[in-house]
Amino acid sequence: MRPQLLNPLFAEATYLKGVGPKVARLLARLVRNDRSGTGDVRTIDLLWHLPTGVVDRRLRPKVAEAPEGAIVTLELFIGDHTPPPKGHPRLPYRVLAYDDSGFITLTFFHARRDYLMEKLPPGERRFVSGRFEYYDGEPQMVHPDHIVSAEDLETMSLVEPVYPLTAGLAPRTLRNAIRAALASCPTLPEWQDPAWRERQGWESFNAAIDRVHAPETAADLEPQSPARSRLAYDELLANQLALALMRRHMRRKAGRAVAGTGSLQSRIREALPFSLTGSQEQAVREILADMAQPQRMLRLLQGDVGSGKTVVALLAMAAAVEAGHQAAMMAPTELLARQHLATILPLAEQAGLRVSMLTGRERGPARRQVLDDLAAGETDIVVGTHALFQDDVVFADLALAVVDEQHRFGVHERLALQAKSAAGADLLVTTATPIPRTLALTLYGDMEVSRITEKPVGRQPIDTRVLPLERLGEVVSRLRSALDGGARCYWVCPLVSESDALDISDAEQRYAALEQVFPGRIGLVHGRMKGAEKDRVMARFQAGELAILVATTVIEVGVDVPEATIMVIEHAERFGLAQLHQLRGRVGRGAAKSSCLLLYQSPLGDLARARLDIMRQTDDGFRIAEEDLKLRGSGELLGTRQSGEPQFRVADLAIHGTLLEAARDDAALILARDERLESDRGAALRVLLYLFERDEAVRLIGAG
Ligand code: ADP
Ligand code: MG
Repeated sequence: MRPQLLNPLFAEATYLKGVGPKVARLLARLVRNDRSGTGDVRTIDLLWHLPTGVVDRRLRPKVAEAPEGAIVTLELFIGDHTPPPKGHPRLPYRVLAYDDSGFITLTFFHARRDYLMEKLPPGERRFVSGRFEYYDGEPQMVHPDHIVSAEDLETMSLVEPVYPLTAGLAPRTLRNAIRAALASCPTLPEWQDPAWRERQGWESFNAAIDRVHAPETAADLEPQSPARSRLAYDELLANQLALALMRRHMRRKAGRAVAGTGSLQSRIREALPFSLTGSQEQAVREILADMAQPQRMLRLLQGDVGSGKTVVALLAMAAAVEAGHQAAMMAPTELLARQHLATILPLAEQAGLRVSMLTGRERGPARRQVLDDLAAGETDIVVGTHALFQDDVVFADLALAVVDEQHRFGVHERLALQAKSAAGADLLVTTATPIPRTLALTLYGDMEVSRITEKPVGRQPIDTRVLPLERLGEVVSRLRSALDGGARCYWVCPLVSESDALDISDAEQRYAALEQVFPGRIGLVHGRMKGAEKDRVMARFQAGELAILVATTVIEVGVDVPEATIMVIEHAERFGLAQLHQLRGRVGRGAAKSSCLLLYQSPLGDLARARLDIMRQTDDGFRIAEEDLKLRGSGELLGTRQSGEPQFRVADLAIHGTLLEAARDDAALILARDERLESDRGAALRVLLYLFERDEAVRLIGAG
């Protein structure tokens, strides 16, 4: 249960003064609140809404000395009011004011006379703050931000935070709501190590959260400012502690030593038309050694597209079977699952392995048969999709679960698959997405990592070009000569929107247009097609009956047609770099020279150009991912947003990478000393976990 102490922060924002239902609706549009799931804005959501600017009203010149364009606070005597002439409501309402250096006109549009008379009574002294300008050579201020009497001057903050806004929400309303949120923030215990905090020169959480909302200079807005760094560290610590708890939980379910004899593996190796790269060999060694340990394996196999992870995974699965157990391999899509099966099956059969498949497509008696064989131990390896999670899927003795393209699965699913094994299956997560180290840490914590760093020999670099869409005609005519020479081509249609309906209609149009030019040689695949239909088209492309495969991004991951040498991507500027890299990795798999054409819609913004340039410059997935992280920040990379993986409110991985490493070490030390978080610091750390909404992790603390 969340500590009572935090209740005020998790209460709806409507409890705050000045936040009615209408304001709450506006706030909901503004602040990120995807965790609460209800759409209601809570007080804490306001605390995390950080200022992006600061207005400094401390400049207090005389009218005659005020710099044009500056924000100033003037001390003025109020003179005559001049409302717009009758029948001209669009003309401004003017109020003359002065100090001993000169006059200024305060200008208002659509003003109410009685309101202004009250705010600016003639003959009185007022402090007026806003942007100082000249109009027709005369000093003026249009719609001052603040008008206060001398007594009220103290209530006006001379330095004000500026927040991102949404239409209809007045800056002042938002500021007041956030101020009220800060006022209701309870004093929280210190969860950071005192020595560490002192070294960093950080204040307490409460002081830091107050300070980030009260910037005085632009430097206070920097992510590296002490206050923001402190909060970023808190967030990263919560993240790392939660992951460490999860990992410990998974480890606690005792694993077992799984040591293969090597007999099946050597048969598979004999059947391979190539020998493994040094990097693949290294990965296999690491995985087998880990599986042979009595604890459960939690390992990430990272390797660029086309680096050959599938065969590494297959050898690991073979080792599990040699030891008398079963293995499962799970892919995020049916297409991919079938692709894996196609890769694995010929090799596995040579080695005498019994392989089956389970996806949403297996139904009725066929499915029953697969399930019976799995439960009876008649199947050695099963390849499938999410369908493997279903309750009625029972393994006789699952020892190794390989989860492909992990970032599409959530943490829950990882746990669910492991739960299929009473004895605690080893877990090998493979990802073709090059995850920078910082991001890998936040997604997986300190999961062991094996990396395939080399490409198989004989691969040629892919010639990547970046072209405006206007040159489509040229692309098509060059394609014609390439196809006449027997080339095969992927043509990826743009990611139009979140809705794949639109993507599909675009792809259909492109298909129809290309069909005119290359009749009978075009195929189309998209996400809404039935599995069997997709397979048919893919098979014809694979066999060379079709020369061009028009696709939405369904081909993104895993498809393996070594003969395809051309990749055309329309509206490349709409794709993430990691995604472009994945797509490009579909070509350059055989010995022939491949090319990739990135077509963009002009004009191209600076950021988009920089990103496409990276694609042109390098084929190194890790570099691409690091650059992408720098350019975009971590949030969008890998589409983590959709998969429900951690989103940070304060921390920015591109900037706080070193803090992340420190947080990981801190988390490890904390659990080594105080497993159940029972010390005083432990209690404070529980508060931290709840504060950053890692409730699930807290539940794992006590659980066996
Ligand atoms: P990914 O790492 O993207 O999953 P795959 O496992 O699909 O890559 O392998 C890509 C292609 O490279 C496949 O056709 C596979 O048979 C081939 N391959 C894998 N390892 C080697 C190797 N050592 N030498 C040559 N080709 C290899
Ligand atoms: Mg793969």
